[in-house]
Amino acid sequence: MPFSYAERMQSVKASAIREILKVTQAPDILSFAGGLPEPALFPVDAVKEATQKILDRDSHRVLQYSPTEGWPALKTYIAEHYGVTPDCILPVSGSQQGLDLIARSLLDPGDEVIVERPGYLGALQIFQGYQAQLTEVTLDDDGPDLTALEAAFQRGRAKLFYTIPNFQNPTGITMSLARRRQVIELARRYGVVIVEDDPYGQIRFAGESQPSLWSLAGGCAADPDLAIVHLGSFSKIVVPGFRVGWVLGPASFISRLVLLKQTTDLHTGTFVQALLAEMMTGFDFPAHLASLRKTYGSRASSMLASLHRHLDGVAQWTKPQGGMFIWVRLPAGIDTATLLPLAVAEAKVAYVPGAPFYASNPELNCLRLNFSNVPEASIEAGMERLCRLLRKAALG
Ligand code: PMP
Repeated sequence: MPFSYAERMQSVKASAIREILKVTQAPDILSFAGGLPEPALFPVDAVKEATQKILDRDSHRVLQYSPTEGWPALKTYIAEHYGVTPDCILPVSGSQQGLDLIARSLLDPGDEVIVERPGYLGALQIFQGYQAQLTEVTLDDDGPDLTALEAAFQRGRAKLFYTIPNFQNPTGITMSLARRRQVIELARRYGVVIVEDDPYGQIRFAGESQPSLWSLAGGCAADPDLAIVHLGSFSKIVVPGFRVGWVLGPASFISRLVLLKQTTDLHTGTFVQALLAEMMTGFDFPAHLASLRKTYGSRASSMLASLHRHLDGVAQWTKPQGGMFIWVRLPAGIDTATLLPLAVAEAKVAYVPGAPFYASNPELNCLRLNFSNVPEASIEAGMERLCRLLRKAALG
């Protein structure tokens, strides 16, 4: 080839999950692998209605270029949702872009980033892409291990701590209120930026809602000793195909992100932002959210009941109160990546092996199950086939 790639391309690798998803898309395979919302719950009528309305009313503006800072009506909706001013908000092309902009604005090669172990693969890839050093902090049922977190902060090299406090991807774990307060306190004490990623927070189907780290830390109100950035997304609560999320942060930080975003894509799509602004105020969003919660909650219950029925005493698993994922830990010695082809061929079921969710020293005996995009009626039969295979691998 008559050219050479930039050095940074060495840290850009194919996503293991995307590769797995390609294999599992055969029609006879039941996939617990992806992380997709249930398409039957997409609010199609509301999309149609809002599309018609904004085109009839405002086609010259909604089909035009628009400011990088975002579509004002959408910012007003987000501002009211959080009780903040619009200058603390940047609509982005999916919260994935928000993460990328945050990393690009803060990280120099070699900077240390603290991540959860296991953690969201898409974030690990971004941080690695900016040649950051990743330090992992394990999770217990209440969130990140505070002793490990403090030890990492104490070394004084950490620039930011990336966390998903609600129904974490991949484990489904939710950070307790006490742990949230302690994490904020540590970040304040050691001057580490908290990046709070919360695409699933509104999809709670059990337990009590917890305040975000962002709001506990005082939201937009300037705190000279603490920098906290919050990411939200319409992907899981409305539709992922619009590619619209948002970043909340101190106004001065948001204005720096605007400059970066300008060079990346000029602005988030005008049409989808205007469409969302119209939809969110024009349809019964609370009812829509309630049906998402009900459906995902009952799918999660079915999957948990199947795990209990077929793997009790053999494996351990998390019990999520929302979101889309359950994390299963099999006995040491089992490699879920090697088992996957067998699960697909014999049990006709797919899952994501745990290894890609670790930045280093992967635990090979874990796997992630998705419950949001599987018809309720297929869960028990699919889980029965999968668990039989896992049981056999565990017990011989
Ligand atoms: N953060 C987390 C934790 C996710 O699971 C995802 C999507 N799977 C994203 C960010 C990206 O979401 P989007 O870009 O669609 O808003």
